[in-house]
Amino acid sequence: MSKKHTIDVDKFSLVKVKPSPRNFIFFREESCDGCGNCALICPMDLWRMRKGRASLLAKYRERCLECGSCYLACEKEAIEFGYPPAGSGVTYERA
Ligand code: SF4
Ligand code: SF4
Repeated sequence: MSKKHTIDVDKFSLVKVKPSPRNFIFFREESCDGCGNCALICPMDLWRMRKGRASLLAKYRERCLECGSCYLACEKEAIEFGYPPAGSGVTYERA
């Protein structure tokens, strides 16, 4: 499989992430059927597939763009998505 292209937030000066102090994506493993949609669609490569189940990287709060794609792509409702508290999370700056 070819390497997935992802955004390096540290090199892209218009995107800043201040990690949320709390979780804002929740995964229900028992609902996951291992379809892999979340891992396929995440632009930051924050999901992994192992033994037929998805898992979210522990450090996702440092890189998540809050696009909600994983939540939308999951047909099993195994992913719950909120937003980080105000003052944290991703910021997009105008060039
Ligand atoms: S919200 Fe977007 S960037 Fe964050 S984990 Fe889901 S797909 Fe990846
Ligand atoms: S999209 Fe949902 S059901 Fe599919 S692997 Fe990801 S968490 Fe599991």
